[in-house]
This record gives sequence, structure tokens and C-alpha cells, in this order.
Amino acid sequence: MNLKRLAGLDILSEKYAYAHDPQAGYVAASRVADRWVPTTCGYCSVGCGMLVGVKDGRAVAVRGNQCHPVNHGKLCPKGLSEHHTLAAAGRARHPLLRKDGRLQRVTWDEALGAMTERIGAIQARHGDGAFGVISTGQLTTEEFYTLGKLVQLGFGTSNYDGNTTLCMASAVSGYKRSFGSDGPPGCYDDLARADVILLIGANIADNHPILCQRFLENPDATLIVADPRVTKTAMMADVYLPLKPRSDIALLNSIAHILIRDGLFDRDYVERHTTGFEELKEFAAGWPPERVAEITGLEGELIERVAMLYGRAKAAFIGWTMGVNHSTQGTETVNAINNLALLTGNIGRAGASPFSITGQCNAMGTREAGFASSLPGYRKFENPTDRAELAALWKIAPERIPSQRGLAYPDIIEAALAKRIRALWIIATNPMVSFPNHEVLKQALETLEFLVVEDGFHPTPTSELADLVLPAAIWGEKEGTYTNSERRVSKVNRAVDSPGEARSDFDIFLDLAGRRGVREELFPGWQTPRDAFEEWRRVSAGRMCNYSGMTWEAIEDSGGLQWGGERLYEDGHFATDDGKAKLFCIDWQPFPEQPSREYPFILNTGRTVEHWHTRTKTGVIPILDGMSPRAWLEMNPRDARRLGLKPHDRVSVVSARSRVDAVELRVTEIVGPGQVFMPFHFVETNSNCVTQSAYDPISREPNFKQSAVKVIKTETADSGVNRWKI
Ligand code: SF4
Repeated sequence: MNLKRLAGLDILSEKYAYAHDPQAGYVAASRVADRWVPTTCGYCSVGCGMLVGVKDGRAVAVRGNQCHPVNHGKLCPKGLSEHHTLAAAGRARHPLLRKDGRLQRVTWDEALGAMTERIGAIQARHGDGAFGVISTGQLTTEEFYTLGKLVQLGFGTSNYDGNTTLCMASAVSGYKRSFGSDGPPGCYDDLARADVILLIGANIADNHPILCQRFLENPDATLIVADPRVTKTAMMADVYLPLKPRSDIALLNSIAHILIRDGLFDRDYVERHTTGFEELKEFAAGWPPERVAEITGLEGELIERVAMLYGRAKAAFIGWTMGVNHSTQGTETVNAINNLALLTGNIGRAGASPFSITGQCNAMGTREAGFASSLPGYRKFENPTDRAELAALWKIAPERIPSQRGLAYPDIIEAALAKRIRALWIIATNPMVSFPNHEVLKQALETLEFLVVEDGFHPTPTSELADLVLPAAIWGEKEGTYTNSERRVSKVNRAVDSPGEARSDFDIFLDLAGRRGVREELFPGWQTPRDAFEEWRRVSAGRMCNYSGMTWEAIEDSGGLQWGGERLYEDGHFATDDGKAKLFCIDWQPFPEQPSREYPFILNTGRTVEHWHTRTKTGVIPILDGMSPRAWLEMNPRDARRLGLKPHDRVSVVSARSRVDAVELRVTEIVGPGQVFMPFHFVETNSNCVTQSAYDPISREPNFKQSAVKVIKTETADSGVNRWKI
């Protein structure tokens, strides 16, 4: 600090100067840009359009794109500060290879040479499947398509999955079972056009904040929110359903019971467009509100009222996110939701949809580009016609395309622990914070012979364990497309150069393809992501996610194009063999880890608006970190009194697996007695130390919610220093 400042004479006039920007009006002088680059937000799947202001080659500001159909100029706190991620300290700048136990700087040539050689040697010894890949929802669709092809055809392994299995796999599996294909049927405009909106396990006010604008455009709609926690979204509701944790299937079955009992279903739609009604009718008879009241903790009258509202609506919308998906019965819960939409014909019409609100900015792109749970363009591994079609498009022998999917994310981790996977490539994700049952995950990664981490940031808790770190470009530094939750394909553009020697994931993939000797076969003549897009247009032609009529220019000019049009299934024809959607009888089961005398609380985990996933980005943005600098534990006042705990006490959360210490206590009615809540973003107090290894048997999505824990006062005064904070 200089003397003038110490004497109080320095008023930081330079820092606080303002100036006129021709587009934004008077703003801080430091934020006046030379040029504005249109792009799409790189955080969540809402897919807001934005402009990045660039001055002297640096990103100095972000503002919402007024012309963009998703957000009409509005952005949430993460989007508004996104430019800070680009020049943040902690960006990965150089390839690093572990030598003599230490990560040491090497050239790209040495890094990718070592990767090719080490993985090749492991595959030669243990088979191609001994190499696994875990990617992300953060790359562009062009990169996902390139990566999938490289992994499955170039490296010959189908043990490839993404962190999207930690968030959206149950929605994907549920859609496939009910409708015959993945693909959210509705669009955001449905929120503005529905007369009843039921949100179940979806705290969009924190997690998809710009979507809340759509309610405000629709003041006459009745908003029903079902959530065990009184979230910010629940506070907006006309009808709030404080159901017991994981009792949603019972609630949905009971609504189906009332709809059928009172004839509040669309018989004509059911007969023409669904199968399984008679079985469902018989099954639903066993779910009267009196029975379900006990399971859910909701008054029977309240369940009746909600069923009446839903059944009598002209257009009813059901939205869900992780409260549904993060469960051992996530897929089946999605099927129970879809049942209600199908019974009432609330699908394929304005305002009427069962709608999964996706997580990451391009989780949809990875689903479309495939290679994990489906082949590209939602083709099926097990369908010989689909495989033959792809082989012809790629001019390869059909036998090279696997006839079944490889290991899903949790099974890759299990296989690493059992030494069936020996080499792992992790791309743009941070499982050391995001994967459940942290100790098991850590052991698995430490058991590997060779771990490659490709990321825009280093060190992260995961990259610190790596044998090889590949520095990658991030949002704002590369070009391609993202698809948002409503199937809108939007353009992302490069605003600035990557730091140091970081390269785009696309360049890294092509370089590796060359080293594996498959570049000309798999990626003939490719130089830029546009080449991948052009092939993707051909590969997706005629499929549900059909890009063949799109160009980058048309996408850019229109603010994004929706594949499948505004809504899917408008004609009532579904992607099943008989063209009809399936109704399912879904039995409710208690969640796997029930509270006990030793672990009496049910721990729920979730997010907060200021942060993104494991905070590698938002933790280094001062304004976001300042707004929410540490984790907290919410506990009901009755429980806090009983345990002699006060607000701001530091507490330890302990499960049968491990513990998290020094979490700040919030005493609040937001959670009910016997329940506690903790955000999952924070490495210093990592909720995944206590979560369990329990997965949906169909989607393989983890049951992040409902861990049995006890809460005790921590003896140490403060939480550990955030060593990841720059
Ligand atoms: S709502 Fe999502 S897409 Fe929109 S600005 Fe916020 S993080 Fe970005």
C-alpha cells in the first residue's frame, strides 16, 4: 500500500473511473471494450446468450445478449462474471509429466508422445479395455464427436463415459424407456404457456436462475413445488409440497391413482399413443392418498388438490433436475413423471411437457454426439442397422463398432480399483470433489498405472494426482456449438487466446489421432472444429437430433436453432418400435441408507447460485467467492436445540464412511427436523467424503442424496485454509 493510500488521500480514482461505452452506456472505464464477441454461457444448460468484451486482447466484461431468445439480455451472477475465468490465476499453462515423483514441465511433443506410448503399452499388456476415459459436459459438440470417435475407434476402448452420468443419466434412461429415445420433449416457452407448473426436485432459483424469468411472464400459472427443503424456488410456489426425502415416486403414483379414479385422464390419447394402461390402472389402484400420506408426510387432501390441479390443467408442465436424478430409483422416477404426462396428454403441446432441466452447458451435446450410453445421433449400440449405417458413413467395417456400451463412470472407477482399468484419461472434470464416497475414488485413482488429466486449471485436487497434465483451452478460447436443455444449438466463439501453451481439446484430440496412426482414416483432412461440425451434420441427418439443415452461420444469426423444432412428439408418434409411448408401473422403495441411532440425520446435498460444481472456476472469481466463501450445514432449530448447537458453530458431519469437519452451522426452518443440507461445491469441506457408493441400476447415476449422518460439534475453531483459492 502506498503512502497516499495510508494517509487516506488516495481515492483510487483510476480503479473507480468510469467512461462511456457506445453499447453499454456509462460503465467502469476498465470494462470499456474494443470489441464484443457474441457467444453462449459456458456454465449451465440454460444456455444464455452473451457478449464478451475484449480490450487489448483481454476479456474485460460480459453482458447479456438482448437479442438472444433464451435470456433476452439477462444473466445470473456466474454468467455476469464469467470473463474473469479466462485470466484467472490457476490456469493450466504447460504440459506437465511426472518424473521422479514430481510433475515437471515438458513439451507438447514429449507429453503426447508419453501418453501414446504408455497407454499403448498398457493396452498391449492388458487389452484395449484396460484404458478408460471420463469426459465432461463442458466441451463443444464438435469436440465430443471427435473425442468419441478417437476413443472408440482410435484407441479401441468403449470404457468411455462422462461426468454427465453424475447428473443427467437418469433423465436419459427414463426418456429412452418411456419414449424410445433421449431428448427433452418441451421447451422453455412452455413455462410461459402452462397453466400448471409442477417442479419436482428442481431448485431452479439457485441452479438455473434465468429460467425463473419465464414464470414471471406467466403470472396466472399455478406453480407447485415438491421438495423436502424449502428452497428459494419453493418460496416462489403457490402450492408447496414438503414431501419426505425420496418419497416422490409414491406421490407420483398417487397422482396417477387420482387421475384414473376420477377420470381426469385423456382416454383418447392413452388409447392411441401409449401401451401399458391396463397394468398401470391396476397398479395405481394400490396408491390411494391415505396410504401415500404416510410415506410422503403430505396431507391426503393436499395430494388430492395437486392431482386435481394437474388433471384439470389445459396445459401442464413438469420440470425436474437432480432431486429426481440423484437416486437409486432416478430412472424409474422419470418414468413415473412421464406416466402423468402421457395419461393426461400433456406432451407435444404448447405449455405441456415432462421436461428434464439439464446440468452443464453442453451435457446435451455429449448425449447427442454419443459413444457413451448411445452411438452418435441417439443410435443404439445393440441395433445392427444403426451400426451398419454408421460404419457406411465412416467407411469402416461394421465389426469395429461395439454392439454394447462399455463401462459407465462408476463402473470405470470400480474397474480401476480392481485393476481392470489401468490407464485413465480424465477430461475437464474434477472427480476428487464431485464423485461420491471420496475415499474409494481416491484409492481407485491412486491404483492406476497412468492417469492423464486434461483441464483448463491446474492444480486441482484431481490434476495433482495425475502422471500427465494437459493444459486445455476453456470457454471463451475456442469455437463450436453447445446444445441447451430445450435442444437449442447455440454458437460459442473464441474471444481471446489461451494462456501459456494451452491448446483446444479439439487440437489435442487430432494430435493424438495422428500419433495413434488413425488421423487420416477417422478425421480425413480435418483442421478445425468446423470440419467436425460438417461431418456431424451428415452423421445426424435423419436422426431425431438432426443438424443437417444447420450451419454455424444460421445458428449464430438466429440466436440458436432447436433440433426437432419447438417440441417433440407433437404428432403423438414416439421413437419406440410400435410408435407408442410406454406407461410403467413403478414401485416405491425406501432409499438405501436409512437413518439409524448412530447416524440419525438424512443428509441432502445441492448447489448455490454463486458457484459452479467444484469451484475450479467460480472459486477463483473474487466476487463469487466473496458472496459464498465456504460451505454450510443447514439444520432445523429443534434439532440444533436438542444437540446444544448454535448458529455459526463449526460442526462435523460424520457418516459410516468418513467425515467432514468444521462446517459452519446454519440453524433454519429451510430443512425439516431429522434432515440436514450441505452444498457440494467445496473441496475444503467436501460433502462427498460422506456420501455413499449407491447407484441407479439402470442409469448408473449416483444416489448423492439421503446419506445417513450424525452431526457433532467440531473442536477446531475454523475450517481449513482453502489451498485451492488463489
Ligand atoms: S443461468 Fe446458466 S447459462 Fe444463464 S448466465 Fe447463469 S449460469 Fe450462465
